[in-house]
Amino acid sequence: MASPPVTTVKMSYDIQYSLIDDPTGPVNDSFVGEREETSPSLLNTSVEKLAFPGAKEPQGSPQENTYQHTKDPECQLANWLIDNLIDGMNQRRWYGDDKNDALRPVFDVEGFGDLVREFNESIERAKYEAAKKIFMLPSVKVWGSIKFAGNRGPCHSCRAVLDRLARTLPTVEIEVKYTGAVNTPVGRGLSGVYGYNVDVPERAPGGRWHVLYNKNGFRSDNEWLDKLRN
Ligand SMILES: [Zn+2]
Repeated sequence: MASPPVTTVKMSYDIQYSLIDDPTGPVNDSFVGEREETSPSLLNTSVEKLAFPGAKEPQGSPQENTYQHTKDPECQLANWLIDNLIDGMNQRRWYGDDKNDALRPVFDVEGFGDLVREFNESIERAKYEAAKKIFMLPSVKVWGSIKFAGNRGPCHSCRAVLDRLARTLPTVEIEVKYTGAVNTPVGRGLSGVYGYNVDVPERAPGGRWHVLYNKNGFRSDNEWLDKLRN
């Protein structure tokens, strides 16, 4: 019996932010890099601690109402990104360029610290809401882009995660590209082993999903990953 195909997703992120309530001027920083996840690699996390747990398995499926997709690369990457972005912003808030805590009173007035604590301690929906509140603070400006490139289309659960990420960071451009997905039959252990069939209508607002068919000449994994990233 053939083993389920592996899902690999590379995420390139170039996020700039400005914390503009410092009396001495804006605190600017960036969060730039690349990260790759392959199913079923697994972060040391659980649904309760994820900002974006994804969608539950639909009614009538073998594992209905359970979360089976937290191991999927897109879900892991989105949660890692939001965790680390907020963590970095929080450190910048406490330690400005001069490594002192001069910014503390400014941001405490706005409750940034309370929101970060909420983010770190709360569960599921509340954590997502806390993240959204942080990025909506008038003192916090975020812009840039996040690109996901995968060898399979994101599953329904991961599309929910990506949509939620886009709503959390409405000023950040998010793009998802993938080669033709494999429509793996539903069975046990769904996580990370299937994506949308290429014939499934694209439903993302703004045309976020971009399918690149294999016939376009992507022959090796490295080749298509390089092309997708650019
Ligand atoms: Zn998924």
